[in-house]
Amino acid sequence: MNSVAGLTPSEKAPKTRRPIIAIDGPAGAGKSTIARHLARYFGLLNLETGAMYRAFALKALASNASLEDLPALLALAANTSIYLEPTGEGNLVFLDGVDVTTRLREPRITDGASRVSVHPPIRAWMVRLQQDLGAAGGVVMEGRDIGTVVFPNADVKIFLDAAPEVRGLRRYDQMDSAAAAEVQPEEVIRELRARDERDRNRADSPLKPADDAVLLDSTHMSLEEVVGKVEAIVTEKLALEPSKA
Ligand code: C5P
Repeated sequence: MNSVAGLTPSEKAPKTRRPIIAIDGPAGAGKSTIARHLARYFGLLNLETGAMYRAFALKALASNASLEDLPALLALAANTSIYLEPTGEGNLVFLDGVDVTTRLREPRITDGASRVSVHPPIRAWMVRLQQDLGAAGGVVMEGRDIGTVVFPNADVKIFLDAAPEVRGLRRYDQMDSAAAAEVQPEEVIRELRARDERDRNRADSPLKPADDAVLLDSTHMSLEEVVGKVEAIVTEKLALEPSKA
């Protein structure tokens, strides 16, 4: 039998897929900005799994299904296709073959996504779709359960966090002036806390860092500092060079 002393079988086997980078964390922690940056910097594809839950919430709301009615949601899911197409500017989201990207940021969709995502069979369906999308590797996948459930064998796992007030204010600052005129910052913080609560306390795949994730709390960090830190983490873990493209 061939053996290489001191190495486990997985260390001996050549790596056949490109890297998978998992970015998890609560709403407003900066996952999207960081994931998009990493994808561009290292020449990988960025996949936003939250957009898939949002697309399904859009379909459920448009169908007047109750978001608590699991049999109804499952019947709907059986006739639903959701696909992400990465672009340099973020993901295009296709629901049943139609590009719904611009419709997914409404507050009722945000709230709906957080409600449909508590149902284990809906999560199981989404996880399978996400595993298929990322199977070949070469991806930065962001969400809540990427490092724990979707790709527990990801090459790099980063869990981004920040204090709720800071995350809420960042979200508020990102709103266009029309949207910001409709709400108070306190309301945005309240909504974010409610989503956090649901994500962290659901029975199936609650939001939590994987045991082997690198934790990064950006409460007192600028975006540039966070970017510098994650670039260094990924470079070290993967010994990757930035993309020349
Ligand atoms: O990341 P984003 O805010 O777009 O996600 C919308 C909602 O989808 C989250 O509040 C969360 O409840 C759910 N989600 C999830 N698991 C993921 C991604 C998102 O439960 N991997």
